[in-house]
Amino acid sequence: MINKNLLKTESEKLGISLDDVALERFDKYAELLVYWNERINLTAITDPDEIIFKHFVDSIAFLKYCTPEEGASIIDVGTGAGFPGVVLKIVRPDLSITLMDSTKKKLGVIEEILNEIGLSANIVHARAEEAGHDDNFREMYDFATARAVSNLRDLSEYCLPFVKVGGKFVSLKGADAKNELAEAAVAIKTLGGKTTKTDIFELKNCGERAIIQIDKVSATPTKYPRPKGKMQKQPL
Ligand code: SAM
Repeated sequence: MINKNLLKTESEKLGISLDDVALERFDKYAELLVYWNERINLTAITDPDEIIFKHFVDSIAFLKYCTPEEGASIIDVGTGAGFPGVVLKIVRPDLSITLMDSTKKKLGVIEEILNEIGLSANIVHARAEEAGHDDNFREMYDFATARAVSNLRDLSEYCLPFVKVGGKFVSLKGADAKNELAEAAVAIKTLGGKTTKTDIFELKNCGERAIIQIDKVSATPTKYPRPKGKMQKQPL
């Protein structure tokens, strides 16, 4: 289905080498994405080379700039069709990945895909702003991550509550990262975060991308996250 050599080469450019098992899994993942996309709306991207760049390489870039320790726990908030969470699991099967989304049918497909490629993850059907108050999830993860879910200010309120003090929130963003960071500065501080690193890179034919790393330096005050309506009416 996909050009595995292209994926291998592009991944190597990020310093990440993919073995044959991972390449086979990516190939099957792409095939299943296209198959399921004809049945439920998962992604606008179905061209094989676009899947390589816009989904796979874009998600793999997380691991160029941030290297979780062996066995680290990561929650992917608003995973959709599995980005970046399923990609991280394929590249680093040692990681304990939780995939959270508010849309149940997408999670059903993800479960099928994981079964087919022989990997497992914790799949959680929940809204982040509700799960963030649940002791099973709150401050339980070494990392939270998200791509294409919300602006960084609201996203910090969704994601930082899940991260243990000493862990990180890693946000995958587009060209507007600098402005988003400026707009999110108060929220990040209020929620117990501290921005430590922003790496900008060029995704071939797709423009600039940014990987923003926010350290969790203190516990998130218990009143956060707030319901979505409140976040919008009274942005931090
Ligand atoms: N992260 C994937 C990607 O980069 O392709 C999916 C992005 S998609 C545009 C946004 C996803 O976030 C959707 O699957 C949606 O259901 C989910 N989502 C939006 N708000 C959410 C919330 N408050 N809690 C959990 N999931 C949410």
